[in-house]
Amino acid sequence: MDWQNHLDRIARDVRPKLGRGQVATYIDALARIPNDRFGMAVRTIDGAEFTVGDGEVPFSIQSISKLFTLTMAMNFIGDRLWKRVGREPSGNPFNSLVQLEREEGIPRNPLINAGAHVVTDCLAAHCRNPQRDIIRFIRHIAGNQLIDYDGEVAASERATGYRNFALANFLKSFGNLENDVDKVLDLYFHQCAISMSCLDLCRAASFLANNGVDPVSGERIVPKARARRINSLMLTCGLYDAVGNFAFRVGLPAKSGVGGGIIAVWPGHLTVCVWSPGLDKSGNSLAGTRALELFARRTGATIF
Ligand code: GLN
Repeated sequence: MDWQNHLDRIARDVRPKLGRGQVATYIDALARIPNDRFGMAVRTIDGAEFTVGDGEVPFSIQSISKLFTLTMAMNFIGDRLWKRVGREPSGNPFNSLVQLEREEGIPRNPLINAGAHVVTDCLAAHCRNPQRDIIRFIRHIAGNQLIDYDGEVAASERATGYRNFALANFLKSFGNLENDVDKVLDLYFHQCAISMSCLDLCRAASFLANNGVDPVSGERIVPKARARRINSLMLTCGLYDAVGNFAFRVGLPAKSGVGGGIIAVWPGHLTVCVWSPGLDKSGNSLAGTRALELFARRTGATIF
């Protein structure tokens, strides 16, 4: 397959969509990013890598971080996690409060904000220095020691994080946070504020395309069954209340973030990541979703 040619064509074809959609204005530091940026990368399980446009430019990974903290928490506490968080799509926006109250503090899944707070709480309880351990894990699986937190984005998110404070306080009131709200949210705002490129994300998620083993280093990151479960969670919960539409259009497990990134996994074949900051009303990259739709259609990259 001529992956480079596919990426080049897709970058040309989505150009009319660039500049559309809204950047995440509720986080000041993200509101300043021009919404006509576009990058894409592919990494096959043979280790071949391809990029186009801004595919090697770091951006704010935001909710994509939930994938990595979930992986860490599953490795640390295994099935005990499922006592505190569910595995169903929420059908609601990623930062919705109503369901959490009605369902008595058990978030629907680990890939919406409330669920990610619980996951982050597990890491805070389990690691001596969770902030250091999260970045170490991500640097390790991405093979890039330069990946780091963007302090300005983290501070900006804290300054306007009213909904996250509300969600975490709900969780605490229902007894589903062990640590202080402030400690959990500080860690959460930092994990969201990690900067990575499409290529970094393709490398970091490669183990999910290869039964839990990094295809280049040969290192096992998670057991095979766990990789399958993480992919299932991405397929059913990775794009919030737009997850059904995304499965319909693309048909790959994926995780999005309001920075405009989407990482998708084609098990047994490759990882593909796209970045374009203009978002649709669910908070998913507009041009990015279109790019992945074209990618799946033209290359046959789908699990269905
Ligand atoms: N940091 C963002 C928030 O908590 C992450 C949300 C997202 O990327 N969907 O609101």
